Amino acid sequence: MTVILQEDFISSVAAALQYISYYHPADYIRSLAKAYEREESPAAKDAIAQILINSRMCFEGHRPICQDTGIVTVFLKVGLDVRFEGPAGGSPLVDLQGMVDEGVRRAYLDPDNKLRASILADPAGKRTNTKDNTPAVVSVELVKGDKVDVTVAAKGGGSEAKAKFIMLNPSDSVVEWVLKTVPTMGAGWCPPGMLGIGIGGTAEKAMLLAKESLMDPIDIQELIARGAQTTAETLRIELYDKVNRLGIGAQGLGGLTTVLDVKVRDYPTHAANLPVAMIPNCAATRHAHFVLDGSGPVYLDPPDLKDWPKLAYDPQDARRVNLDTVTREEAATWKPGEVLLLTGKLLTGRDAAHKRMTDMLSRGEKLPVDFKGRFIYYVGPVDPVRDEVVGPAGPTTATRMDKFTRQMLAETGLLGMVGKSERGPAAIEAIREFGAVYLMAVGGAAYLVSKAIHGSRLLAFGDLGMEAIYEFDVRDMPVTVAVDAKGTSVHQTGPAEWQRRIAGIPILQ
Ligand code: SF4
Repeated sequence: MTVILQEDFISSVAAALQYISYYHPADYIRSLAKAYEREESPAAKDAIAQILINSRMCFEGHRPICQDTGIVTVFLKVGLDVRFEGPAGGSPLVDLQGMVDEGVRRAYLDPDNKLRASILADPAGKRTNTKDNTPAVVSVELVKGDKVDVTVAAKGGGSEAKAKFIMLNPSDSVVEWVLKTVPTMGAGWCPPGMLGIGIGGTAEKAMLLAKESLMDPIDIQELIARGAQTTAETLRIELYDKVNRLGIGAQGLGGLTTVLDVKVRDYPTHAANLPVAMIPNCAATRHAHFVLDGSGPVYLDPPDLKDWPKLAYDPQDARRVNLDTVTREEAATWKPGEVLLLTGKLLTGRDAAHKRMTDMLSRGEKLPVDFKGRFIYYVGPVDPVRDEVVGPAGPTTATRMDKFTRQMLAETGLLGMVGKSERGPAAIEAIREFGAVYLMAVGGAAYLVSKAIHGSRLLAFGDLGMEAIYEFDVRDMPVTVAVDAKGTSVHQTGPAEWQRRIAGIPILQ
């Protein structure tokens, strides 16, 4: 019988969560660096460069890879010959969920690297922030043995939002469903990443298989080299090839690499069923694995910085834009896919601020902030530490703001928006009608973006915390024109173009 101290378990979980907040898994970085080398789409190459540079900066600065520091997901395999012990040799003071949550609390409130609290209680009601990112989602399996096997992950909301499930007929094709479904997921899951696919079992088992498969290391090239031996492996190779041939590319801008790997796990199922779950992992892939054997807490060794390519961000031909003097006429000359460097005053606001502002506008009330001729950045930053102006501050998914866009453009005189991922048809039509523009920053490059922010001032709705309206003073903040003033969307033209081009390029080599 192995004795695991409650405190050892908690401090190991806390340390692992801090670790994954700033260290990408090395296999992800090695694979992304290869994708960078072979990428031919300039917009996608620029986006991958930003993700790689951001990752190295986070490695060195011990600050979060992304402003969304995720919902904590933990897989525990607890040996049947393990006993947990609380303080002074007594029983544990809390259950396993309580121990994990204490680890989460310590990690997310760590003053040296405070992480963003993103978890809201009463999800269909008041949506109140729990303030310490608890509770985690914990899956426990009791297994043979005398150890505790722990996998922790911090899953970004943008990629989790794109999780899919379907109960196919047994004669249906899994490949067909995946290829039909991935393009509907847009770019809000911040590709390049991975797809986790769970097949079989029951509905909830398929979802768990899909999520847990994302914890496996990236090894598709090794699999291609040795050849598939099972149905799941055959599917992995076929889907890796065919999903990349969709041409979606980094950040949905069109390009050669959409997924770095596809994972498939299966489980026996009922004769009448073929449950299939698909969950993407984003550019902020964050997970770590360790084993507690009773000898004390586990503190993982840092990865080797040599695996992180040293790139300098130097966007060729980028157009410099002064946000304080820019006009609608000037913005109308920007081309889809063009890289801009923004300097000047940039307003912020996301879901809750938009809901409140559009409610006020509908009641005929004056907004506390004048948006006329201004740009708004959809962002919810991490709190600053030490001498930072702001913590990591990458974009959030703009599609969620679509339903507010027409009213904001029509009633406030807003000139442009900055976010990530594509806009829907209604928002694009409003952008075209009002001669506005939508710019895209790279999801998963949050620390890099934050270095372009040199001042931050709270303007309104302070009670909304990270969702409040701030005025950022930015210098050379890199963005890409995603919807121009004529309503052309790079998220439509880019993948269409690269799907054509990729037809003649081998993926499986
Ligand atoms: S990389 Fe994108 S999807 Fe992932 S956590 Fe960051 S913003 Fe969310």
